[in-house]
Amino acid sequence: MKTLVGSWFLLILVGTLHAEASKPEAKIQVFVYNYAGVAPKTLARAEREAARIYTRTGIETEWLECPLTPGEAAQYLACQLPVSPLRVAIRVLSRSMSERLGLSQQTFGSALLSEDGGFGTIAQVCAHCSEELAKGSESMYAAMLGLVMAHEMGHLLLGAGSHSASGLMHVPWQKKALESVAQGTLVFTPREGERMRQQVFARLRGQEPMQASRN
Ligand SMILES: [Zn+2]
Repeated sequence: MKTLVGSWFLLILVGTLHAEASKPEAKIQVFVYNYAGVAPKTLARAEREAARIYTRTGIETEWLECPLTPGEAAQYLACQLPVSPLRVAIRVLSRSMSERLGLSQQTFGSALLSEDGGFGTIAQVCAHCSEELAKGSESMYAAMLGLVMAHEMGHLLLGAGSHSASGLMHVPWQKKALESVAQGTLVFTPREGERMRQQVFARLRGQEPMQASRN
């Protein structure tokens, strides 16, 4: 009897593991281009913050530091992968690059959305906009940068018109929202999480997005 119970338990366990294994995983790779020269420790912390926010929505993210010039390409072999809708690029811009693009503490970043119906894969964030707001606090700087990266990636995964009345996609970030940055409570709404997971699965299947335009 004991053996029988053990066998049933094992069968159920194997069945569960099999079901988990066959379930498609919502996962995207994020290639990071650190033009701003953000300290590696701070950037890694920012990436962990953004990854935490996405994990809460059921989307796993893998972050890779990528080369800034063709000459550095050999040192970053992991970044030499073919273009795919499951790979997005985040450019962490220097002050001069941000100013040229008109990024400020009003906007913090931007996402490039396709006008021809394709999935958006490129976002850019203004590093010093977060740094100055953090007023010398490295942890606040990393948290802010992580939120901005998560927000701009949110535009890539939600499509046009994705600012909302509350949560991480609400703009402008008011004082109350900035306080919640420090507490790590600024996240996507459940509805946004569902929409983003659906888009990741659509990207996985190679489908066209349901909506696409510039934002
Ligand atoms: Zn936005």
